[in-house]
Amino acid sequence: MSNIHIGLDIGGQTIRCIALDAKLNRVSEASIVTPAREGSLAVLAAIRSVIDMAAEEGTIISVGAGTPGGVDSQGVIVGMAANIAGWFGTHLGEYISSAAGGVPAVVRNDGNMAAFGEWVARKGSSRALVYIGLGTGIGGGYIEGGRILGGCDDRALEIGHFAIEPGGRSCVCGAQGCAEAYGSGPSIGRIAMDLALGKDPALGSLDKTGTLQNPGLDKNFNNSQLAAAIRSGLHANAKDVYEAYAKGDALALFVDFLATEALSRMTATALAVLAPDLVVLGGGVIRGATHLPSSIKKRMPSLVYEDAWRHCGFEQSLLSHEAGLYGAAWYGAALVASSQDVIESASKWGKSLV
Ligand SMILES: [Zn+2]
Repeated sequence: MSNIHIGLDIGGQTIRCIALDAKLNRVSEASIVTPAREGSLAVLAAIRSVIDMAAEEGTIISVGAGTPGGVDSQGVIVGMAANIAGWFGTHLGEYISSAAGGVPAVVRNDGNMAAFGEWVARKGSSRALVYIGLGTGIGGGYIEGGRILGGCDDRALEIGHFAIEPGGRSCVCGAQGCAEAYGSGPSIGRIAMDLALGKDPALGSLDKTGTLQNPGLDKNFNNSQLAAAIRSGLHANAKDVYEAYAKGDALALFVDFLATEALSRMTATALAVLAPDLVVLGGGVIRGATHLPSSIKKRMPSLVYEDAWRHCGFEQSLLSHEAGLYGAAWYGAALVASSQDVIESASKWGKSLV
């Protein structure tokens, strides 16, 4: 049997797994619904089952895994991971190594694994890459010189919780005015609903800039089909908003403006703090909103000093929803092969993967 590398992406809804051969070609994949409400033992059993499926393809020699929440250098979950019950304190690294037959294993925050995947997919050409994943929440990761800079317990770049509107909308983290409360998939849908239904959307200064940009805006959105659908009972999500955006719907255009403004403030802060040469936007939201990288780039001159944005690229993810999955597999492979070998083998797949 040939040697294989395993990559795991442990999400609140799905656990996904891929197996790569020694040349990093994808040879199999498996996925299972995360029993997120049943506690950590049930989730670990699910992880073992996808590893067992992948193991049918060969002899496992490395495992890399991305997980929500903070994770220490031993692979123990030590931070917030609200979407999996009882996940705190789980010895995940030890468990997956054992489940795979005692091979080298590594666990990192899922945003960091996605950042690593995007960095490898670009042949390591970026000196400093910021990854922003727009999905159910907003995650991030930072790669400098090929290394994940994860801070304490891999919690660096929890970029969705940058406060961009103090006193603004409530965030799932307990704070107010986080970027995630305006720019995540569920938040985009909720803002559209609040506006259509006449509820206070707590937009603060975002509303002022939006009104300035749209001086003739009809705040009742009487001509909006999206608003009419919401008033008829639609529970809108980001997909609904961006489908309406594509048709020029007035409410969708305004919600997009607000999300872009919030994400731009968040990104400008990251540029000032980290000085990246590339910002990659990924996650499920971006699939319906491919204009976001260029929209955000256009806002940088008025939000952050020139040196921070002038030579910085803004791109869409190459690996889409599989950035974290490939990042984990490649990061795990680098435990048993040189990083350069991993980049050379992996990067040729970058654009053909999705
Ligand atoms: Zn928050």
